[in-house]
Amino acid sequence: MDNPFKNALNQLTRANNVQIFDTQFLSQLYAPNREIRISIPITMDNGSLALFEGYRVQYNNARGPYKGGLRFHQDTDIDEVRALAFWMTLKCAVVNIPMGGGKGGVTVDPKKLSKVELEKLSRGWIKLMYPVIGPHTDVPAPDVNTTPEIMQWMVDEYEKITGDTTRAVITGKPIAFGGSEGRTRATGLGGFYVFDHLRKKLQLPDSCTVVIQGFGNVGGNTAEIFSNHGDKVIAISDSKGAIYKQTGINITSLNTHKEQHGTILGFEGSQTITNAELLELPCDVLVPSALENQITIDNAKKIQAKVILELANGPTTPDADDVLFAKGISVIPDILANAGGVTVSTFEWEQNLKNEHWTESVVNAKLKEIMETQSDIVLEKSLTLKTDLRRAAFIVALERIEKAMRKKLY
Ligand code: NAD
Repeated sequence: MDNPFKNALNQLTRANNVQIFDTQFLSQLYAPNREIRISIPITMDNGSLALFEGYRVQYNNARGPYKGGLRFHQDTDIDEVRALAFWMTLKCAVVNIPMGGGKGGVTVDPKKLSKVELEKLSRGWIKLMYPVIGPHTDVPAPDVNTTPEIMQWMVDEYEKITGDTTRAVITGKPIAFGGSEGRTRATGLGGFYVFDHLRKKLQLPDSCTVVIQGFGNVGGNTAEIFSNHGDKVIAISDSKGAIYKQTGINITSLNTHKEQHGTILGFEGSQTITNAELLELPCDVLVPSALENQITIDNAKKIQAKVILELANGPTTPDADDVLFAKGISVIPDILANAGGVTVSTFEWEQNLKNEHWTESVVNAKLKEIMETQSDIVLEKSLTLKTDLRRAAFIVALERIEKAMRKKLY
């Protein structure tokens, strides 16, 4: 399996080969500012004690407080969290929001915990991490397998311990608990805004065929948004497998099917295929929305999509990037494509600090403006430097981080 942090640094080197940055500046991006590892003790429902390993990586805060989600997954480890924290640093800079990069997680399969155990684990993460996070220091959010309810437990625990009532320490909370309108859909919607804005420039039609890997928060919302726009979603997967329906999948019916059967498999009129087959289907746009390292040197040659919209973090390895580029497939990189989530998280943080509550239309209009403006800047950079969109996005972000870091030398 590719090491995601190695891949992330490889991407940095590749961008620097196109536009050379100051070596002293760059050297500070090869390692995080701080890494924290914790062991969270939980009394399980059967009375036994279990210990779970948790992490927070505070990568870089030159542009603002560390910002990034928390992942609860059995395969999560410090290398993965470090890579995700690095990408967050670049992502916040590429959409020009006043945040640095961080990420956290716990090595756990949350499906194996009862709700009581999950709440203890979430509160336990805060009990051990509260001294190093805060509204002006480090602001976590949801990621894979973490939900608004988990964010609610966490912010409640933080408030109990510290007395801070702004709730600005955690974003992605339920609306009734200081959350922002539009946050749940923000990553999918932001990705759609980027794609739709670039659609014509990428020579794609008004109605595209779409294949989506992952049917969680990001994949599920993205499927609905593309479908409502008039694009045709022809295949979707989750961790249990994938479905394909050439005539198009009705997303509302698929949600009902999943609620009733606990899986997308067996959806009426669909054919069951493997996750590997899903990635290789002919389509206009392929949207990885699950985990990293999905498009690698092993399958890149077989990808038949015209455009890849990376809503997952790190779904494509650097050597696969080269194959795709040679095949003329445009990759809209994760640090731009999925930045809608952190953008609306930042709106949530701002609303909490100002004690305001914005309407969904205000949130979405602000999101659209940011995603479109920054997409233009990245596209322009790629045309000027004659490079791909990933290197261009890295270069835009690095220029902004370098400017901020010049002011912060010790
Ligand atoms: P989620 O837990 O809600 O959903 C993950 C989905 O991926 C689930 O449908 C799961 O079944 C599926 N999945 C897991 N393993 C799979 C596999 N091997 N093949 C196919 N599907 C598989 O998580 P999410 O919040 O939707 O996050 C998905 C991706 O988007 C992650 O890479 C995450 O870092 C990224 N992301 C999320 C946000 C956000 O706001 N939630 C923001 C930016 C980026």
